[in-house]
Amino acid sequence: MAMALCLMVTSCSASTLGLPASTPEPVASASTEPTTNPTATPPAPAAPAEPTATPVPPPRAITTTTGVPVIVLTSVGDNHVVRTPCGDEAIVVGGEPIIGPLVVLDPGHGGEADPGALGANGLLEGALNLDLATAVQAELTTRDINTALTRTGDYLVPLGVRAEFADDLDAELMVSIHHNAPAGDASDRPGTEVFVQTGSDESARLGGLLYEEVTAALGAFDVAWTTAPDAGVLRTLVEGGTDAYGIIRRPATPTALVELGYIANPAEAELFATEEYISTATEALADAIEAFLTTDRAGTGFVADPRIFRPDPAPGADVCIDPPLR
Ligand SMILES: [Zn+2]
Repeated sequence: MAMALCLMVTSCSASTLGLPASTPEPVASASTEPTTNPTATPPAPAAPAEPTATPVPPPRAITTTTGVPVIVLTSVGDNHVVRTPCGDEAIVVGGEPIIGPLVVLDPGHGGEADPGALGANGLLEGALNLDLATAVQAELTTRDINTALTRTGDYLVPLGVRAEFADDLDAELMVSIHHNAPAGDASDRPGTEVFVQTGSDESARLGGLLYEEVTAALGAFDVAWTTAPDAGVLRTLVEGGTDAYGIIRRPATPTALVELGYIANPAEAELFATEEYISTATEALADAIEAFLTTDRAGTGFVADPRIFRPDPAPGADVCIDPPLR
């Protein structure tokens, strides 16, 4: 992992990081302290500079002054070497520490290379996911639950970077927020799907709570829903048996991916464009997350048989453009 590269400030040379070195104690020089006898014993070397304060470990993540959440790899003072959204390293100055323990919200898709699905009304999945995740963050903040988003604007973050973000923060959970395509079969109830991690009871419980709260809340809307026949809380596996979706397979953090409904169904896309939908879905997602953190409820909707499916690879670092970080 990149964090192990240069975690301790004391073991890193600031100059190798391109950072300004800390100011050394001034050392007496010939120009200010002329010696009267050039043959005299040279003065003893200056003692190492005394640290002026107890070293403070760098924050594990910050939100940059440009509003981008990033993992901090190492810091010298207010200068941080961070992992960028594209997975590179960059130096940023300042920023606000992200405080844990926390919930990571992952708005699916983002950026020109990965806009997500498109609704018939012009609603773009990546933008909708971000609107909803931002609203959930605001709601959880009012409930005194710390959160961080894997992205805060319309830019690409490869799945590996999203997973590392949650893991490096030791997040208690991550919820990846999506809206589905292509549309399923006509249904009298929401076709919500929640994908969970093989071998993780915590991921399954998170998924069950998300499914229970989201289907109960959305079921109150009178909409021509669509669904897949096996909708529910399930695992999607490639033929070899590993989890198919990168955001499910990669993180050690308990993670669930929720497809709240079908943006590819015009009737659902109309609903998703309303403020009423955003506020209803926000409450449901926040209730599920709070229940995960504060109760031992298991949730509902579990489907025994996994789905076998090999998704297209998600856009990665080769097409990634970082947003401004300073
Ligand atoms: Zn999606």
